[in-house]
Amino acid sequence: MADGKHDLNFKVSRGDTFYKFFFSAGLSGNLLTKLMTSSKTAQRLNNIFPGDKFRITLDDNHDLEKIIFSPINSIPLSITYENKKFRFDRINAQPTGGFTHTLITINKSLNYDAKKAGIEAEVTKMMVDNFSWEIDFSRDLRRGDKFILSWDGEKTPCSMIYVGGKRTIALFAYTNSLDEKKYFTSKGATLNDTFGFAPAKYDRISSGFQKSRYHPTLRVYRSHRGTDFASPSGTPVHATAKGIVKYTATLTGYGNVVYLKHGSEYLTVYAHLSKFAKGLKSGDKVSKGQLIGYVGSTGQSTGPHLHYELRINGVHKDAEKVKPPKQSFVPSNKMSEFQARAKQVLIDLGI
Ligand SMILES: [Zn+2]
Repeated sequence: MADGKHDLNFKVSRGDTFYKFFFSAGLSGNLLTKLMTSSKTAQRLNNIFPGDKFRITLDDNHDLEKIIFSPINSIPLSITYENKKFRFDRINAQPTGGFTHTLITINKSLNYDAKKAGIEAEVTKMMVDNFSWEIDFSRDLRRGDKFILSWDGEKTPCSMIYVGGKRTIALFAYTNSLDEKKYFTSKGATLNDTFGFAPAKYDRISSGFQKSRYHPTLRVYRSHRGTDFASPSGTPVHATAKGIVKYTATLTGYGNVVYLKHGSEYLTVYAHLSKFAKGLKSGDKVSKGQLIGYVGSTGQSTGPHLHYELRINGVHKDAEKVKPPKQSFVPSNKMSEFQARAKQVLIDLGI
């Protein structure tokens, strides 16, 4: 931490006890007895619930300096140990600097390590949904990478920060007038991208999304679960949104095909390409509009066109009809307040 102190943060899971956290901070049984008998208020520590949080601050000699107890549904309690005496103070409920934090250090996987840190599955899923727009959870995370969640008393964090070996991604909650809480970068934008419609310049849509149609090459009725853009061979094909290359392949039906992941829910497919963009490989991050290949007629195709698919949670959707949510922004009249709060969190964390 920035001030050189040693902060240990704990979140209560079912079955946890206060003394477990106290001992894991390296503090003694004698000190615990002293604390618990110092005031009636201390008995509150015997009555903790999942979601409650503790921050134990040690000084440079690893002696106890302070304990902040933040119950999920009550005002935080500060316990200071000074001149061998305990002092108890209720902390004003206003969360100016009164954040609590949970640190998740990646050892196995986000799911595993978040659970270990006492994070509820629902919150972990939300982290994945947000960060997947920038992080490929199947290949980008390294042991020792950190996620820091900050809490101001609500059930979902007020900030989520990824601190990796190469980069930091900080997201801050903002609740709009419709009471929707979303996460934004310090610039006030959500991480998700707004999808464009057509991945290439095209003359016409030669075949739309259909449940069943006659396939002239295969001479069978089959569904067409994508959109065909008729376009000359060699026309550049662009990513319809920011994403990560899931893989490129040459398949019997699709021919040369690129699969892009966008966040945790969206996948786009670009098939029958004459060739791929130079050097494109799985794991690459692509920006919206980036060149990924060229129109062709590879695989089972009757002529040059781009077969494009939009899948949401694995389900094929009609790209002409379905529009994924757009990127959203903190309203400009709320921006300075939002950025001040974001800054406060970062200062509090020493980031
Ligand atoms: Zn098609």
